[in-house]
Amino acid sequence: MMTLSRRHFLTLLPAALGTATWLKAASKAPFIMTVNGAIQPSALGPVLPHEHVMVDFIGADKIKPGRYQPDEVFNIVLPYLQKLKTLGCSAMGECTPNFLGRDPLLLKRLSKASGITFITNTGLYGAAGHKYLPAYVETSTAGELAEMWIKEYTHGIGNTGVKPGFIKSGVDKGPLTPLQKKIVQAAALTCKATGLPVWIHTGDGAAALEEAAILQSNGLSLENYVWVHAQNEKDRSIHERLAKKGAFISLDGLGSSSADDYLSRLTLLKQQGLLHRTLLSHDAGWYNVGQPNGGRFRDYNFLWEQFIPMLKKNGFTETDIRMLTVNNPAEALTIRQ
Ligand SMILES: [Zn+2]
Repeated sequence: MMTLSRRHFLTLLPAALGTATWLKAASKAPFIMTVNGAIQPSALGPVLPHEHVMVDFIGADKIKPGRYQPDEVFNIVLPYLQKLKTLGCSAMGECTPNFLGRDPLLLKRLSKASGITFITNTGLYGAAGHKYLPAYVETSTAGELAEMWIKEYTHGIGNTGVKPGFIKSGVDKGPLTPLQKKIVQAAALTCKATGLPVWIHTGDGAAALEEAAILQSNGLSLENYVWVHAQNEKDRSIHERLAKKGAFISLDGLGSSSADDYLSRLTLLKQQGLLHRTLLSHDAGWYNVGQPNGGRFRDYNFLWEQFIPMLKKNGFTETDIRMLTVNNPAEALTIRQ
């Protein structure tokens, strides 16, 4: 296979990226890639960085087209997005990876109908004991996986024309398995080639430290890294350690039962001067493929209706809240080339 040397990227990228005019500007100015194309980071508005519209848990060996009716999913999900829009949110990081129900055209359609901007992803999810990894991961090198993901970014996902705005990967608790190490390495190579930030569903702090080490061994700054589900780790000194090196700490299981814990974590991060490296989301939704009418849908409202008032009551300023809901997610989704 071709090795993904820096020289290779430099020769591959300009040709692959084509003649789109925004790219000339993008090579200088940072941008965010939405399902509707590139935008300036300042244009994104309030964001839920980690949510889902649809998930199919059947597994990579059984997933196939036709397991759901896009019209039915559209009709069920749209009212939740319309409600979210009325609460002041304007964008969503849709974190469903390939082989788990990622559907860029559905997102594009929902975006048009709801006014919510989506950012979708490339990459592979290696958590849950590799259930969502296609068989080819065993025999592919990290460089070959990265080439597939880079192609999704340069050419669009399949024939949809939709480009991913971040890399979404996933691992269980540490230590990482050889396949999980391979996909994190592939994520690092993809980030180096494209500037796409690396978001990794992570089982615990030990796994996060391993991910960070792999990214850094590839010469990447941790400013490119989002530790997804950081709330899984109880030892808050690991959050502090990685956030101080630039990593984003994604507290993304917010809801009524976790609100007190999240308030305490955010209070500590603020005291540590690390609120600017913190993300907040529900990991809610979604149309669950295979269940009647998509099963029980969890809405995206708690942060706006309940948690922001709770933050204000506990001394968080408008600036803090803007940082958490607008500035930080935009920063975590920004592509620098
Ligand atoms: Zn999720």
